[in-house]
Amino acid sequence: MGEKPHPQDEVLRQSLADPESFWASQAEHLHWHKKPSSVLEISERKLQSGVKHDTWTWFPGGEISTCYNCVDRHVLAGRGSSPAIFYDSPVTGTKRTITYGELLDEVETLAGVLREEGVKRGDVVLVYMPMVPAALIGILAINRLGAIHAVVFGGFASNALAQRIDASQPVAILTASCGIDGAKPAMSYQPLVREAVRMAAHKPGRVLVWQRERLRWSPVEAEKGERDWAVLVGAARERGVKAACVPVKSTDPIYIIHTSGTTGAPKGVLRDAGGHAVGLHHSIKYLFDIQGPGSVIFTASDIGWVVGHSYILYAPLLAGAATILYEGKPVGTPDASAFWRIVQEYGVSTMFTAPTALRAIREDPTSKLLRGIGERGGLRTLRGLFLAGERSEPSLVSMYQEILGRYGARDAHVVDNWWSTEAGSPITGRALAPSVGSGGGDDSPLGIKPGSAGKAMPGFDVRVVDDDGVEVERGTMGNIVLGMPLAPTGFRTLWGDEERFYGGYLKRFKGRWLDTGDSGMIDGEGYVHVMSRNDDVLNVSAHRLSSGSIEQAVTSHPLVAQACVVGIPDALKGQLPFAFVTLLTPDHPTSAIPHPKLAEEVQGLVRAQVGPIATLGGIIQGKGMIPKTRSGKTLRRVLRELLDNAVHGEFEKAVQVPSTVEDAGAVEVARGKVREYFGERGDRHRPVEMRAKL
Ligand code: AMP
Repeated sequence: MGEKPHPQDEVLRQSLADPESFWASQAEHLHWHKKPSSVLEISERKLQSGVKHDTWTWFPGGEISTCYNCVDRHVLAGRGSSPAIFYDSPVTGTKRTITYGELLDEVETLAGVLREEGVKRGDVVLVYMPMVPAALIGILAINRLGAIHAVVFGGFASNALAQRIDASQPVAILTASCGIDGAKPAMSYQPLVREAVRMAAHKPGRVLVWQRERLRWSPVEAEKGERDWAVLVGAARERGVKAACVPVKSTDPIYIIHTSGTTGAPKGVLRDAGGHAVGLHHSIKYLFDIQGPGSVIFTASDIGWVVGHSYILYAPLLAGAATILYEGKPVGTPDASAFWRIVQEYGVSTMFTAPTALRAIREDPTSKLLRGIGERGGLRTLRGLFLAGERSEPSLVSMYQEILGRYGARDAHVVDNWWSTEAGSPITGRALAPSVGSGGGDDSPLGIKPGSAGKAMPGFDVRVVDDDGVEVERGTMGNIVLGMPLAPTGFRTLWGDEERFYGGYLKRFKGRWLDTGDSGMIDGEGYVHVMSRNDDVLNVSAHRLSSGSIEQAVTSHPLVAQACVVGIPDALKGQLPFAFVTLLTPDHPTSAIPHPKLAEEVQGLVRAQVGPIATLGGIIQGKGMIPKTRSGKTLRRVLRELLDNAVHGEFEKAVQVPSTVEDAGAVEVARGKVREYFGERGDRHRPVEMRAKL
């Protein structure tokens, strides 16, 4: 007799074996304007090119309003005085609590304004906003009208914004006068939005401007379709203008979101109304253990990213919990204790951030403030620290698990969870309330395995296959793919581009599997280890090595804070792994060349943990040289290009930096370090002395 399966394994099994009954019972927790006629329908989609593939719909026949479920429902249930949003903005020195009752009033009035400005069901409205309550109110108001929002990260350059205007064809844009990014001066959105509208071929009829005191949009030009948001809302209030919820079909899209684009042109991922609401409602309870009023979730992300859509806005409100809207940075607003100050002040039970934020906190000289807050009992409410967006190296997970174990709530967990814009909610993780959905029983989460992103979430059929689409044995690296249908939050197509959906996700495995673009393995116990994007896989003497596994070895050195491993061309082996590292020393050395003892120790760790095949071709050390996207992903491609160029002696050659970059300056720091490294060696083509130790 085998051991009794863990509830998370059992829930997964049920969800895949009988998706209809599993999701039917989840759907019952929500309000439907019209009940679905069935739960799941599989059909065939025929593309213009003649290709046919299977597709699916969740909750066909149903009609739902997500806004109703997020706001009205709670007020009608008598919870109007519960907090919905805690706005905390160290960059402006503002704090504001918005109850569900107040939120309803704001949303229905703004929806009334938008309706008068011509927005109707099925229209697209683009949102280009900073992290202020008006942004959340705006998104909910769009949803209330049955319209589709397309949120673009506030502060994106005009051309990136223009590209998204043309891609999504909005009837209106909601924006603000400025964004405030940390301690930097306020960034005026006025020239950016005007320039983007000028550049775009499609012209949105209206631009609603939320004026911020720090820097106003002036003048608001009515003849250009610009309107002062607050003036319109004030006038609507006087006239008692409000809009009721407009339900949409389960299968209608509620939003378009463009993928963050570490590679290629951004894609417009579409999210269906019914599956989104049901899937998120389930995940916030099951995975995050946010059961309802009284719980506070702090998602330190941006509304421009999928994590922000799902876990700043929709999921917490679907549950009737309180969400924190934080307009600040992990460090510098004012110091590295900002996140923990929030946990303490609002009694946060669940926090969600990207590993890069925790690395930044760890590297900051003021990071010891964390232990101070912990010792004073400030983290006692914290039950879950969720990490996603890129791989978390085991040393990072272990460090924060230790802190949480010491200062957090009893049974507190660091939960690495893997997902993507396309998935809409975590594909893997460790459920903090595994008995939700399995009808009670044992409620302790799966054991932690630093370096793994946990096990599959309900409805996600995760497999690892070889390049022919054949499943590999447990423990073997390969392509991570998903069986279809995806869980209800998952996308089913791209906005206006079914061919690209097929070409980008299904074609590679002939419609059998959906390609996630990630590589990794599932171990003997079913834990998923996501090691790298396929583009970041290195090819060393015809062996495929993942950047993630080598980075894991490099960061296991106690002095290394961050590592980014990319391939450098090598005449003999095709590629050699090459590491960029940032050290955990208070005074970071200025030289790009590491101390020989450090280099030797790191090399030893790589050889011991990954194997001699992964022996590094070189190590460059430096602070602030690893470029990231604004959503916290390492831009390995940029560093790889710099190395490629250096090998050819082209140190100054331009590299392609995507519009999503957070710190374009890091690219130049890296360029300088690369030049110093190769220059001092005087041998540009063969950074071989480390290889000689093979
Ligand atoms: P995005 O669509 O911008 O959210 O990016 C999704 C990609 O981020 C995934 O395909 C992974 O490559 C990466 N990613 C997200 N979460 C994790 C995680 N927990 N571990 C490893 N990679 C992750």
